[in-house]
Amino acid sequence: MCKIGIVLNNRDFEHDIYALVKAFYPQAEIRCMEENQNPEGETLLLYVMQSDTGFSLCLKEAGEDGYRKSAGQSNHGEEIALISCQDIREQRKQRKDQIKTLLYQILKEKENRELPWGTLTGIRPAKLVMGMLEKGMKNTEIAAHMREHYLVSPKKTALSITIANREKEILKEINYENGYSLYVGIPFCPSICLYCSFSSNPLSRWEKRVDEYLDALTKEIREVSKMTKRKTLDTIYIGGGTPTTLNPRQIRRLLSCIEENFPTETVREYTVEAGRPDSITEEKLKALKEFPVTRISVNPQTMNQSTLDLIGRKHTVEQTKEAYWLARKCGFDNINMDLIVGLPGEDKEMVKHTLDEIRLLGPDSLTVHSLAVKRAARLNMFREQYQELTFENTQEIMDMTMEYAYEMGMGPYYLYRQKNMKGNFENVGYAAVDKAGIYNILIMEEKQPIIALGAGGSSKLVYDGGQRIERVENVKDIKNYMERIDEMIARKEAGIQWQ
Ligand code: SF4
Repeated sequence: MCKIGIVLNNRDFEHDIYALVKAFYPQAEIRCMEENQNPEGETLLLYVMQSDTGFSLCLKEAGEDGYRKSAGQSNHGEEIALISCQDIREQRKQRKDQIKTLLYQILKEKENRELPWGTLTGIRPAKLVMGMLEKGMKNTEIAAHMREHYLVSPKKTALSITIANREKEILKEINYENGYSLYVGIPFCPSICLYCSFSSNPLSRWEKRVDEYLDALTKEIREVSKMTKRKTLDTIYIGGGTPTTLNPRQIRRLLSCIEENFPTETVREYTVEAGRPDSITEEKLKALKEFPVTRISVNPQTMNQSTLDLIGRKHTVEQTKEAYWLARKCGFDNINMDLIVGLPGEDKEMVKHTLDEIRLLGPDSLTVHSLAVKRAARLNMFREQYQELTFENTQEIMDMTMEYAYEMGMGPYYLYRQKNMKGNFENVGYAAVDKAGIYNILIMEEKQPIIALGAGGSSKLVYDGGQRIERVENVKDIKNYMERIDEMIARKEAGIQWQ
C-alpha cells in the first residue's frame, strides 16, 4: 500500500487537503506531519507551506538517494500570492480554494486523472448549488462556476444543479424559521450487517429490555415536546437501527406517545424506516397504518442472495419481495427502497440483476448508496478475510442505476457524499413526482433544526438562517442512555434556545 505524508507548517485546511489527497489515492495510508517530523517509509511527501501573503506546494517522491522533487509539476514549490480581500471570512475561503485548486492540478498532472467532483471534498455539493440559486444565480452561471472554480465534471455539475432545483421546489412551502423535524431512533436490528457503522445492536441481546428502552424514550419524547411548543413540526422520521424490530404492541406504544405529545396534524411527511425485510410482518404494518405514517422503507440493498448471505443480512430475496407486497397490500403508497453498489463480490451484472428485480416491484423512491467503509464497520475490521473479493463500483454502474431510476419514472432529488466512499462517488436519492423524502432533503440542506431522540440521537440546531449550527448529542450506548435519560433531556433543555 502506498504511504503518503502531508507536511504542513500550519494546520489550517488540514482536513480539506487530506480529503483531496485521499480522493486521488483512496487506498493509500496518509498521515499529516509537522515540518520537523521524519518520514517513516512514505513514498510521496506533499509539502503545503503557508505564509501571511501566500502559499507553496511541492511534491517529493522517494528514490534511492532520498526524496526528490516530483518532475513536471505546475508552480512547483513557488510561492503563490493570495488574492487580496478585505473580508476575513472570504479571505480564508479564497485561500482554501486557491490551495485546493493548485493541489488538484498537481495531483491531476501526476496521476493523469481527474476527479468527478473536482476540488469539492464536502459531503453536500447540492447545498453549495442551492446557496448559489438562493443568491439569484442562473443555472448557466452556476454550471460555469462549478466547472471553472471547483473543476467539477459536466455530469456531476448537471446532477447537482438538477437536484438543487428540485429541492428548492420541494422546500418552498417549508418555513425555515419556525419549522423543525423530529428524529426518533430505535437502535436494534435483527442482526448486524457487515458494513454497518450506525449505532445498532442485535435485538437478540436486548429483547428483554426493549420496553425499558421505550420507557426512557417516551420520557424523552414527553419532555422534549414541551420545549418545542412554539415551533411547527414539519417532518417525523423514525429510524435506527430498525424500527420494525419493535413488536406491534411496542410500535403502538411509541407512535401513540409521539401522537399524544407532538402535533402530527401539521406534519407533511411521517417516515418509518422499516428497513430490514426480516423484521416486517403484516401485524406490524397494520399497527403503523393506525397512525399518520406516510412513507416507509423496505430495504433490499441487493437482490443477490449470495451477497446477502455474505454481508450478514440474514434475510432472503424472497422476504424482501414479500415485505414489499405486504406493505402495498396494507395501503402504503410511498415506499422507498435502499440499494448499495460496491458490495463485496458484486459486478455490474449483479447490480443489473438487482435493478431488474426492483423494477418489477416498482417502488416510489430508490436510494442508491455507494459503499462507504468506515473504520468501525466489521467489513473493515475483517478486511483480510475478504481480500480475495473484489469491490467494484464504476461510473458505468452509477450511470446504470440512474438509467433504471429514470425508466421507473423517478428523478434525482437528493445527494450526499461520504468520507471513505468507494470510487469517490455519491449517494443519490431518486423519487417519482411528489414522492421525494422531504426529511432527507432537510437533513442535507441544514435549513431547519432536527431534534433527535433516542440512543445515539444527534440533534442539529440551526440558527440565523443556517449561519450557526450547533449539535446536542445523546449517548450511543443503550444502557447509558437509559440510566442517564434525565441528563439527555437536560442537555436539550440547555441547547434549545428558541425562546
Ligand atoms: S440494518 Fe442498517 S442499522 Fe441495522 S445493522 Fe444493517 S446497516 Fe446497520
